[in-house]
Amino acid sequence: METVDNKTEGQLLEEKLIYTTKNAWEKSKEDEKKEAFQFCEGYKSFLDRAKTEREFAEEAEKIAITNGYKSLDEIIETNQRLVPGMKVYRVNRGKSMILAVIGSNPLELGVNITGAHIDSPRIDLKQNPLYEDTGLVLLKTHYYGGIKKYQWVAIPLALHGVVIKSNGDKVNIKIGEDEGDPVFTISDLLPHLAQDQMQKKMSDAITGEGLNLLFGSIPYDDEKVKRKVKLNVLNLLSQKYGIVEEDFVSAELEIVPAFKAKDVGLDRGLVGAYGQDDRVCAYAALKAILELQNVQKTSICVLTDKEEIGSVGNTGAESVLFENFVADLCDLSSEKYTDIMLRRCLNNSKMLSADVNPGVDPNYEGVQDKRNASFLGKGLVMQKYTGVRGKVGGSDANAEFVGELRKLFNEHGILWQSAELGKVDQGGGGTIALYLANMGVEVIDCGVAILSMHSPFEVTSKIDIFISYKAYKLFYEHA
Ligand code: MN
Ligand code: MN
Repeated sequence: METVDNKTEGQLLEEKLIYTTKNAWEKSKEDEKKEAFQFCEGYKSFLDRAKTEREFAEEAEKIAITNGYKSLDEIIETNQRLVPGMKVYRVNRGKSMILAVIGSNPLELGVNITGAHIDSPRIDLKQNPLYEDTGLVLLKTHYYGGIKKYQWVAIPLALHGVVIKSNGDKVNIKIGEDEGDPVFTISDLLPHLAQDQMQKKMSDAITGEGLNLLFGSIPYDDEKVKRKVKLNVLNLLSQKYGIVEEDFVSAELEIVPAFKAKDVGLDRGLVGAYGQDDRVCAYAALKAILELQNVQKTSICVLTDKEEIGSVGNTGAESVLFENFVADLCDLSSEKYTDIMLRRCLNNSKMLSADVNPGVDPNYEGVQDKRNASFLGKGLVMQKYTGVRGKVGGSDANAEFVGELRKLFNEHGILWQSAELGKVDQGGGGTIALYLANMGVEVIDCGVAILSMHSPFEVTSKIDIFISYKAYKLFYEHA
């Protein structure tokens, strides 16, 4: 029964008919692996500089400018027109960003979009956070997004954000990142006295109101003062940043892990860091668009805020920020802007909603259907639909579009896998995909497999990160 390459007829038939996924490390050449490692050096250092949505937008803007991108709003102000080959961007309220490379095709024929979110689960300060108790000063917090609260206690934390003073001045704050900086922490109960706590449900053991950040301990030296430790901390803040307690009301201060991105594993194949959901896809998509030169279709990268709390607000994907951006592109590249141009453009557009997918975790295999789940190191994850309990509230890509992408990726050697978000009825979730789909855009979720998602230290595979970047670039150039 021996035939080609010593393979039997059955073996050949098996290769032809049966769907298999492959390990991307095994399928990559040595120089590709090296490139993946190099790519992730840039990624890790970017993560360290961009731990909040504001910092991501700021860093991305700097890189965009050095790569020849021009502010779209400056182009509008100076009455310039858009021509093919131009690269433009807009930062929206410092928290979200859109970049575009103008293609040679008319916009009405549609654009190619990759979209990711640059906000991550974290702990925010309340607007009146500061208080003194038992000789210590603490900050009241309100967590942001889906966190497991027990993961955020007893670890070093940093404080990032902005304070708007009563005179309108904006003060940037970042404490806990430099080598000599102090860090902060949320204390946890010692096991010796945790008898009652340990009996509680995991979701109740640590409460939202219990997440108070340890912020100071030395009293101000004045017998007449009532809350000496609080005054001392305020005095330090005043000396360094020129702020008073009332300024917290108009501040956005975010508590994030104070540690840096690291290689994980003896072979260094994985990246461990805070905020990889979804900065891993945001970084890959950003790198892909920055490197584009002459494209036929206009290429757009949209980096949104507020995904972790439902894509709400005027910096989130549910808002008109994307539509407005495309409307501006239409206006600046045509003789006379009409509404139908915008509608046709959106309806003819395609998008990779670049977000992470929970990879199978050997410690928790039970929550996944392994035939329909992603694995670290097996390439780009295509997720046809999201949602909960019967796909409710999800986005479901059209089979035609999935087929088109499958063909594109197969033809160009992009390793991919198909996955859902966990077992049916185990839970679920959504991304920004549905908001763009609502505008008429063809959308599919397409990103990187991740472990420990939403924790302070999420884990991804270097080869997957590199493949996703290549896939996004390929999509811009060929879809
Ligand atoms: Mn996400
Ligand atoms: Mn998330």
